Amino acid sequence: MLRNFADTAALQSLDAAHHVHSFADPKALAQKGARIITQGKGCYVWDNEGNRLLDGMAGLWCVAVGYGRQELSDIAARQMTELAYYNNHFGTSTPQMIELAEKIARLTPDGLDHILFANSGSEANDTIVRLVRRYWMLQGKPTRQTFIGRDLGYHGSTLCAVSLGGMSHMHGMAPEMLPGFAHIMHPHHYLLGDGLTREEFGLKAARALEEKILELGPDNVAAFIGEPLQGAGGVIDPPSTYWPEIQRICRRYDILLVADEVICGFGRTGEWFGSQLYGIQPDLMPMAKGLSSGYLPIAAVAVGAKVFDVLNEGGLLAHGFTYSGHPVACAVASANIDIIANEGLVDRVREDVGPYFHQSLRQLADSHPLVGEVRGVGLVAALHLVRDRAPKTFFAPEQQAAIHCRETLWDNGLIARAVGQAIVLSPPLVITRAEIDEMVDKLKAGLDATAAAFVI
Ligand code: PMP
Repeated sequence: MLRNFADTAALQSLDAAHHVHSFADPKALAQKGARIITQGKGCYVWDNEGNRLLDGMAGLWCVAVGYGRQELSDIAARQMTELAYYNNHFGTSTPQMIELAEKIARLTPDGLDHILFANSGSEANDTIVRLVRRYWMLQGKPTRQTFIGRDLGYHGSTLCAVSLGGMSHMHGMAPEMLPGFAHIMHPHHYLLGDGLTREEFGLKAARALEEKILELGPDNVAAFIGEPLQGAGGVIDPPSTYWPEIQRICRRYDILLVADEVICGFGRTGEWFGSQLYGIQPDLMPMAKGLSSGYLPIAAVAVGAKVFDVLNEGGLLAHGFTYSGHPVACAVASANIDIIANEGLVDRVREDVGPYFHQSLRQLADSHPLVGEVRGVGLVAALHLVRDRAPKTFFAPEQQAAIHCRETLWDNGLIARAVGQAIVLSPPLVITRAEIDEMVDKLKAGLDATAAAFVI
């Protein structure tokens, strides 16, 4: 039963008057009016007008187990009644923190057994900057300060996280890059491959790390950070040669390796973590989103033995947040992990719905002149829109073809995201084959309308 809120126009006008949105142009949005979402169940959400929308983005890549899980709201209610809040400062803990830390440690790759809690991916990444710099101080190498990230990498919106990331429109906003952060090219074969095979290009993109380390001086470099598959940058799935080469370079120069699992973690790629899919052995792993399926804000950093053993000898760790390891968020995250495990969602993504999703998207793309490439893995994909497939001709950025397509999709009941010239999809892990069929039908209609609008 849909609950009735005030009429949409009234809500939009209050929204415009008092609410500053994330990643929106406030003035333009105030004129247009925000979309007001009021309810969710399974893979669908409803807006205030009662329109049902298939959520092809699982919120912000996070609602792994789908909306409206009664067991998660029951756990939250019980935990709120029993112990709504306590913290982990100055030597306290709660059973919920302990249980969740142990559960995460069992799932992470070998050696990543120590779990530090935060409330968002950005906080987790800021935490990593502090931990890594502390590690190098304790190692007697205080000059090892600089982090190397990648163009189009996304690691969050706080000052450190935005500096780790490689989103030029975010760097340009203030400008606000902190010192001590550098970037290398991303491994986007379709955009930058330039006649090289995927494997050749993967090596080239990885070797940009070695060049950057030598340029900065190895004694000044603290760590390299990368998402196993770059999500917000446009679903950049790395060639098979990329991560092994990155790993070799990190080891050669004794650079710590951070795999940002905020999107990839908890089954999205068909493994519990993207690092397992790509054979990455990170020293630190931030995670969030799928950890609680977005039901409550919580993030974690898995700290590997190499770093933990040094921090462990280093005395006071002066770091933490009021809500680190919040008991209600921990209880919900723990139950969410149980759902993912008990319903076999990770295997399902790898063996069933993931392959079906990609096969269906490829079939659609094969017959659609607007789609130059489908990429991704598991339940994350991008359809790269082109003016012409051969020779490959991109739309001019100001044409905003992907944004046009995304708006058409929304109007037809499918939530997708536009990133650069790509339409990005990352549905809940519980999506069925029938819902994937519905998604593909809606995509086809959206692509047709976009092709017509741009006279292809
Ligand atoms: N890392 C990655 C890979 C992300 O995709 C995001 C969010 N999209 C973040 C970090 C930041 O997480 P949050 O928005 O929770 O701060």
